[in-house]
Amino acid sequence: MATFNILQLLLQKKLWPPQDKLLVAAEAENDGKTNELQNKVRRAFQTPAFAQNLASFGITQLPELAALPDIQNSSNLSYRVVGIDSSQIYPSRHHPVKAGLTKSAAVIFDYDHASSTAKFNKLEDSKIFTPLELQQALGPEIFASESAFDCLRQLEELKWALCLAKEFSQADDKNFKTIFMLDAALNLKFLDSFCEQLKTVMLGKYLAVLQEFKQVKKCLVCSYTSWPSNNKVCKATKNIFCAAPYFARSKCFGGCGQDLCAMLGPLNDAELWDFAAVPTVIFQEYLGNDYSLFFTYLATQSEVARLDFPAVPNDQVNHTGFVAQKDLTYLFAVILDQVKKGFGYPLALAEAHVAANLLAYEKDFFYQALGYRKDISPKLFSKKNIFG
Ligand SMILES: [Zn+2]
Repeated sequence: MATFNILQLLLQKKLWPPQDKLLVAAEAENDGKTNELQNKVRRAFQTPAFAQNLASFGITQLPELAALPDIQNSSNLSYRVVGIDSSQIYPSRHHPVKAGLTKSAAVIFDYDHASSTAKFNKLEDSKIFTPLELQQALGPEIFASESAFDCLRQLEELKWALCLAKEFSQADDKNFKTIFMLDAALNLKFLDSFCEQLKTVMLGKYLAVLQEFKQVKKCLVCSYTSWPSNNKVCKATKNIFCAAPYFARSKCFGGCGQDLCAMLGPLNDAELWDFAAVPTVIFQEYLGNDYSLFFTYLATQSEVARLDFPAVPNDQVNHTGFVAQKDLTYLFAVILDQVKKGFGYPLALAEAHVAANLLAYEKDFFYQALGYRKDISPKLFSKKNIFG
């Protein structure tokens, strides 16, 4: 009965059968308008109005890359990639000891085209944060919430990547750069949902670690976000087509009567790329304190992913760890090859994700060692008594 009611509601609200957000685009395709709309979007990227709109979000567009013709052809590439991911048990006030646990994993793939070999190595690292250590790591001004713990876990990933990068750079005789891939950790959009203080403090900590990559030889660091939710570039594009007065554009979703304003309004950046097949463009996003990160959207075989990385201008190519223009072809080729090997998602990240997963017995052990079984906090225990 309940299922039937839910279905009724979904039908009433036109949520079933499921409709794609790009329905407007699909309808446009039926009457032959898609090409025209796609071209309009692509042309919009060349206009000063687009640059202005982007600038209002603290983003600039770097000149379109000229030299990326071979990025799909990665069959003869030798490279090393390190994927890093982590999981956690949050410190909980329902436990007698409010300690948290992080488990990180780094997987290392070495592909050697000359000898047609691939080597695989896996490292694991767990850390327990006592309440005191947690507060020390966060600083006195930050409340040790779950969000703060998430930030700290991501920071630990980045620190570990730096540590491994330093190790490899000393031992390595390879003539290519090792690519360190993190799962979304440099896509700092997740900080937007936190309070200003946590955001500022954690951003400072991330950027301090990232700066150190600049001094490390033979490595590049980037993060890969699968189906990202970022939408600033799409908003900047939409605002070009909106006919509402300037001050009302951010709130207009087609009320102004313009097709493209209505169509782009609900989309995010990845969906914009999916729709308009915009060429690869590198953006620079300013994050305060004279610091910026670079990002791009990359259409892979299965999705539009976002890459975030620290980069340097062409005249400072001696810096390593940071991506220079001349590294881009190699970086993209490695990522696309990883996506191919992982059937749609970078293999190194997929393996790191699996390896970082806290196993049931590990969780049980942690909870029991702290004095509680994982599912029975005093609160839950009392509920169980009440509700049987
Ligand atoms: Zn509008």
